[in-house]
Amino acid sequence: MTMILTRNIKEYCATKKAHLKETIEREFPEGIRKPTLAVFQIGDVEASTRYIRNKKKDCEEVGINFEWYYYPEEITTEELVCEIKDMTPYVDGLIVQMPLPDHIDETAIKLAIDPTKDVDGFHPMSWFDPCTPAGIVDYVGNGCNFDWVGKNVTIFGRSDIVGRPLADMLTRRDATVTLCHSKSKDKWQYIETADIIITAVGKAGFLNCYAIHVPVVDVGINFDENGKMVGDCINTENRDVTPVPGGVGLLTRVALLENTVLAAQLYNDGYRRNPDGTTYNVRDKDESRTDCSK
Ligand code: NAP
Repeated sequence: MTMILTRNIKEYCATKKAHLKETIEREFPEGIRKPTLAVFQIGDVEASTRYIRNKKKDCEEVGINFEWYYYPEEITTEELVCEIKDMTPYVDGLIVQMPLPDHIDETAIKLAIDPTKDVDGFHPMSWFDPCTPAGIVDYVGNGCNFDWVGKNVTIFGRSDIVGRPLADMLTRRDATVTLCHSKSKDKWQYIETADIIITAVGKAGFLNCYAIHVPVVDVGINFDENGKMVGDCINTENRDVTPVPGGVGLLTRVALLENTVLAAQLYNDGYRRNPDGTTYNVRDKDESRTDCSK
């Protein structure tokens, strides 16, 4: 079996980060605000603190300004929406670390984020692809030279942040996608016809890869009885499966950096959003003003 996914993901991410650092140095010299990412943390969930710390480290490595805002767990949906709106003009990207406390309306929070600054890609009108699907599509396609066109892709998991957007992105790349979920019958019939498999289920041991001879992207993050991080796959036969940790998580982190830099580039190129959600370019407006005065 040809192994295509098992090249060093760490190395791939390091190369991408070095490239981003160069881009920032070149396009955002002294005097121009560096790309700026604000992260809102609600409450004291330890895992959230750990994830945000990683994001901070990544941003600092490439030269993105990182702003970490903490709010107590008692904050209401309305107060949080106000905080998001107040912060929006001052940053290029704004994300709210999930999960949120139960009393907060997650949909209202996702919709409160300006789609032009929604670098997590959670708003339905977001200008950005969600980070996990974006990282996978980039790595498999560009990093491993896997041509998606005409390939059968089986995805397990149909969440709004992984499976569904991934299916959409791959369909746009001319792959034939089968999107499986908890009600799908007999997963092996979909595995047999697949050229590549992606698991985003969140169950340790969901897929034993001993009989699988196509590449598998393991998105799952689970913890075994010893507290060790594991994916959805069992890979005792050393098949072509992305590792957990050190796999999709790293790709997701780089995709967030890329989205943030892209948001800052678009802003610098003059793209703005009207209060009604439509967009315009300040340069076009300036031009039309000039035209009118002629
Ligand atoms: P989620 O919202 O809980 O969705 C899980 C999906 O799996 C659902 O669509 C569910 O189907 C489906 N499912 C459950 N049992 C199944 C089965 N037996 N066969 C096929 N599908 C089944 O989870 P998520 O947010 O997408 O995350 C999935 C996993 O990826 C989690 O472990 C999460 O921690 C991890 N993750 C990792 C990263 C990263 O950066 N590495 C990023 C995001 C998520 P129904 O829709 O029918 O319920």
